[in-house]
Amino acid sequence: MGKVTGISHLVRSNILDLVPYSSARDEYSGSASVFLDANENPHNSPLNRYPDPQQTELKNTIAELKGQQVKNLFLGNGSDEGIDLLFRVLCDPGLDNIITVDPTYGMYGVCARINDVERKSVLLRADFLLDADSVINAVDDRTKIIFICSPNNPTSNSLDSEPILRIAEEVDCMVVVDEAYIDFSSRESLLSLLSDHANLVVLQTLSKAWGLAGIRLGMVFAQEELIGYLSRVKYPYNINSLTLEAASESLKNQGLHENWVNQILDEREKMIVQLNSLVFIQKIYPSDANFLLVKMDNPPEVHNFLMERGIIVRDRSSVPLCEGCLRITVGTQAENLKLFEALEVYGQTDNV
Ligand SMILES: *Cc1c(COP(=O)(O)O)cnc(C)c1O
Repeated sequence: MGKVTGISHLVRSNILDLVPYSSARDEYSGSASVFLDANENPHNSPLNRYPDPQQTELKNTIAELKGQQVKNLFLGNGSDEGIDLLFRVLCDPGLDNIITVDPTYGMYGVCARINDVERKSVLLRADFLLDADSVINAVDDRTKIIFICSPNNPTSNSLDSEPILRIAEEVDCMVVVDEAYIDFSSRESLLSLLSDHANLVVLQTLSKAWGLAGIRLGMVFAQEELIGYLSRVKYPYNINSLTLEAASESLKNQGLHENWVNQILDEREKMIVQLNSLVFIQKIYPSDANFLLVKMDNPPEVHNFLMERGIIVRDRSSVPLCEGCLRITVGTQAENLKLFEALEVYGQTDNV
């Protein structure tokens, strides 16, 4: 349905009819000086005031940074809020289904269970690439969302845009592309293609490349119509004042952000060389993100060995297609060195 406009037939009827809560701040947004409309405490400025429910200022900054329009942007309490709201807007509990392309990020499946929505799982190919036909074949007339993560967590590779766009053009449901790791990627974001595809949605976040996981700020980019439904359903003040402030401050410093990303990418390449020198490492999958998926002998034992030395990595060895693998985040130079030294010690013990 690439060129079709209008997605209202995919939206739950109770949401189409919803009249959202209208807050005091929604009803007045001019520049008055005496605010006696919201039962706020007059003391403790500025945190005594409710934040802007529309996040106009921050949205302007982000839209400009991303080359998008404000009307195509929704801000959530992390991407996780965006994911959950997509379920609540699109999926009738107990009736509709969604598709995930596995192995992938666990939140899609958790949100599906919370919302009582069936999840159909389609596997990536053994080389972790996307097979458009197997996704398209899994769609039925109750499928509302297909989640595609690129670069994908935990496989660390990017998926080609060609099969993603072919899926978007051939199916009548929303195709959500989660770009949490896009700033580490050598590939282009799909953001520039949004205006050609009514059913395409792109998720991004400040949690990874911007170093702001603690403030919880996720972005949903989509056609204005879907953004409108998400905005109706969200909590009125879903982005708090401290988050708005911290995000605005950080986004001013594009240079620092780029510097961090470059450092992480340099460290990633060093880590690959180091890990490849260890005999129990079987394979490091090509990464387009800030983590490595590493196949090795006896991953649970390595995981425990590291944990006993205070180094935590993610054991993905029981995940289909990730058998034998740990997922290792790229840290600072000092952290990565500690990891490597511990793994060297492990390699010299009788374990191997
Ligand atoms: C880390 C991650 C996110 C980020 O979620 P936030 O709620 O924005 O912190 C989103 N998607 C994927 C695939 C991730 O790995």
